[in-house]
Amino acid sequence: MVSQKVAKHSRFIHSSGTKGKIYMRKLKNKGGFTLVELMVVVVILGILVAVAVPIFSAVTANARKKTCLNNIDMIERAVTQYLVDSGADSVEGIFKSTYTPGGVTVASQSDAEAKLSEEFLACFEGNNFPACPQGETYTITIKENSENRALKVVCSEHGGK
Ligand SMILES: [Zn+2]
Repeated sequence: MVSQKVAKHSRFIHSSGTKGKIYMRKLKNKGGFTLVELMVVVVILGILVAVAVPIFSAVTANARKKTCLNNIDMIERAVTQYLVDSGADSVEGIFKSTYTPGGVTVASQSDAEAKLSEEFLACFEGNNFPACPQGETYTITIKENSENRALKVVCSEHGGK
């Protein structure tokens, strides 16, 4: 195969004139790329990476925020479920220890088990208190108005509603 090709091309190589010279140059470069060509490829790849990385991280951050806000929704729905299931008329029963005006900070599942009542945790699937996808903490405070007392849940990174 190769020898056939060379034989086929050799008539150009041996032929005199510009056509033969151009072909000789083309044949010399056949084995690979020049340094300039490689550098152009590297620069183009660099530009693509520089454009793609911020877009990718923005999409990831957005997805995390959405998951976190869904978690907050889930916690607030669990409060309603707790009130219905337990027949309690106060949200204070959600906390295990004495509630402080600054609220209760929950950073992990063990934190949730230490600070929140078992009845409230039972409102979550598998008793698992939802975790922020970015590993941030949820602060749960009692929101009061003249008519009722409700819980407000805020993530330290993603905020709340
Ligand atoms: Zn969060």
